Amino acid sequence: MKACTWLGGGNFEFGDVPDPAVGPDDVLIRIGTVGVCGTDVHITQGLFPSTPPKILGHEASGEIVDVGRNVSRDRIGESVVLNHSTSCGECESCLDWTVSRCERNTQVAAFFAELASVPDQSAIPVPDGLDVEIASITEPASCCLSGVSRLQIDDGAIGLVIGGGIMGLMTAAFLKTHGVKTVAISEPVGFRRDFAAQLGVDVVHDPAESNLEDFVAELTKGRGLHIAAEAVGKPELVAKCVELVRPRGQVLMIGVSPQGSPLPVDLYDMQYREVVLQSAFGRGDVFNRTPGELMKLNLDGVISARYALEEVPQAIKDSGEGKGVKLVIKPNG
Ligand SMILES: [Zn+2]
Ligand SMILES: [Zn+2]
Repeated sequence: MKACTWLGGGNFEFGDVPDPAVGPDDVLIRIGTVGVCGTDVHITQGLFPSTPPKILGHEASGEIVDVGRNVSRDRIGESVVLNHSTSCGECESCLDWTVSRCERNTQVAAFFAELASVPDQSAIPVPDGLDVEIASITEPASCCLSGVSRLQIDDGAIGLVIGGGIMGLMTAAFLKTHGVKTVAISEPVGFRRDFAAQLGVDVVHDPAESNLEDFVAELTKGRGLHIAAEAVGKPELVAKCVELVRPRGQVLMIGVSPQGSPLPVDLYDMQYREVVLQSAFGRGDVFNRTPGELMKLNLDGVISARYALEEVPQAIKDSGEGKGVKLVIKPNG
């Protein structure tokens, strides 16, 4: 099969590699769509730990084309979205933390390729009515859904998301579908603000038009936000969220700040106002139910550009420059 192998830094090699082995409990996937993730960008910039050479890509959907001997042949032909780790349901992480941090994970994601072999349990059916290409955003969306699921949402809550990349957009959309009465997003790029409105976000803020503090004061009649989510990955914006919430408000960390970042807040103020700091990193326990949650949203146009498999380096570069909402690779054309 063809694959795009990361060699370190910004270097990739496109070419033939052996087809993946299909073990007895595995399914073989013809990858239809695989998203370019901020993590892929950070890996090539040295900001996220990873050791080359390896095939990157962990946000895929496609079709089952073969199965191992322990898997029902009825699955052949199924449209699926791929989880990228397994869970045993028995280890301490599975029991006390989350299945997506299973200590006995047996899977590696390598989806910038024509084919992938994954354990049967990691191939989740795409529900009828959800476009299989759009279903490729399940992985990033599940990280947002996991974060939103960790919040306490009261009647009449007002929430703000800072940052309208795919993570901020999905967080805002799920705040809305999970009962936050008024959801706002602050994002400098116009087409992202427009997409937020399509997803049901009530109020959009352009930081070029007014400052965020004034916007929030007006939105909340000076009381502050119930929920403020940071979806950029900048410590100073997490600190801004702490300032913008009301007493006992909740701050949700969705964006990933660089390792080693301190949180630049006045701890006395944060404690005095009894601010709750909540966070999510990864899919938590919600991956399998995320496709169903995506069906509640109008996601037309979420995929801004499609690239061939040999264009992975360009797609990663474009993604790093903030082009589009979601950029995807089409390994099989
Ligand atoms: Zn991702
Ligand atoms: Zn486990």
